[in-house]
Amino acid sequence: MDEYHHGKKLRLSVGRKAPEQGKKVIYLDNSATTRQYDEVNRVMLDAMEEFFGNPSSLHHLGLLSEKKIKEARGEIAGAFGASPEEIYFTSCGTESDNTAIFGAARARQRAGKHIITTCVEHPAVLEPCKKLEQQGWQVTYLPVNSEGFVTAGQVAAALTKETVLVSVMAVNNESGCIMPIEEIGEKIKEYNNANGTGILFHSDMVQSFGKKHFNMKNIDLASVSAHKIHGPKGMGALYVKKGINIEPFLLGGGQEKHFRSGTENVPSILGFGEAVRICEANFEKRVKSMSEVKIKLLEGIKKNIPDVRINTPEHDSVCSVLNVSFPGTRGEVLLHTLEQSEIYVSTGSACASNHKNKKGSHVLVAMGLSPKEGEGAIRFSCSEFTTADDIEKTVEAVTAAVMRFRKLGSFR
Ligand code: PLP
Repeated sequence: MDEYHHGKKLRLSVGRKAPEQGKKVIYLDNSATTRQYDEVNRVMLDAMEEFFGNPSSLHHLGLLSEKKIKEARGEIAGAFGASPEEIYFTSCGTESDNTAIFGAARARQRAGKHIITTCVEHPAVLEPCKKLEQQGWQVTYLPVNSEGFVTAGQVAAALTKETVLVSVMAVNNESGCIMPIEEIGEKIKEYNNANGTGILFHSDMVQSFGKKHFNMKNIDLASVSAHKIHGPKGMGALYVKKGINIEPFLLGGGQEKHFRSGTENVPSILGFGEAVRICEANFEKRVKSMSEVKIKLLEGIKKNIPDVRINTPEHDSVCSVLNVSFPGTRGEVLLHTLEQSEIYVSTGSACASNHKNKKGSHVLVAMGLSPKEGEGAIRFSCSEFTTADDIEKTVEAVTAAVMRFRKLGSFR
């Protein structure tokens, strides 16, 4: 089967027959994960063959690996407008979030035991917060409005002398909302200056990295993940602003300046560096191309399908995500129907499907969607490889499927 770009062959998973030769895959689940850039594959393969030395070894092979890691760290720092000393490699976005939250909590617990976050964060933030609640911490989960936004004013109003950490994501993985994190950082700084507190501000930037730049002036900690930007899975980084000290999560051999022990995953670190290099070198072009296809998709859906709820705000949303509810359908059934035409979408976040709680998306519930609207939600997430033709085919297939389900009345 031909892949959706670069003419690559894609092998399908167990239990599914390979589609007809020459049939094109339309991959619109890039918020769940992306296909690695070919350049990333090459860099990783080279790393496995050439840079196998342990970066902590004193000999030439070790030094070679260390030098390569330094280059990759520089790429990631550059994307943040930070210095390389502020970047720590981790095993994924989840580890970065866990390290930021538990690390800040442990380091600051003598100052207070209050954390502020939002109720639409990824489980990688919500679950550590819940764990801390079990250990006696107080956590404020700020609500969002019907468009999915939290305001800087809400954060400011929730700050107390007991607060030690605020964690607000930059872009929501389901709605695509861009949160006002620069303003939030300003408010926290003002509060700290007025009250002599040292409240830290963490932002989960997994879904914004490579798609939107933020001024990091008032952001102390930020989590990112390689596989959302055509890099390898199981690779992440945590930005820790110079001068900020939080407790390490993994203790051991003292790698990453004693902040994150464990022998470095050299191929993945180099692959991450390469992905960031490509994203940054083509930043404007990529964002423009994703925005164009997203608008085309939005217009196509609005024009062809009556009675839809657009769950992604038209203003202040990331270029790649469009979340739409099609009442009278069920998202999961729609997803599998589209899959028959080799169109791959999502009902929400991929991680939510692992959750025991099957009540539906916590993000859409927080935005006030009715159960019927939540049930019929589909998240389309494009990449720079999504074409206008992909969108036309998707609109056609979605329209046909939604109209058929509504006519049958199976999901009323
Ligand atoms: N945070 C957000 C907003 C995400 O979307 C994801 C992944 O979907 C994560 C964190 C977790 O990242 P990883 O899959 O690298 O652990």
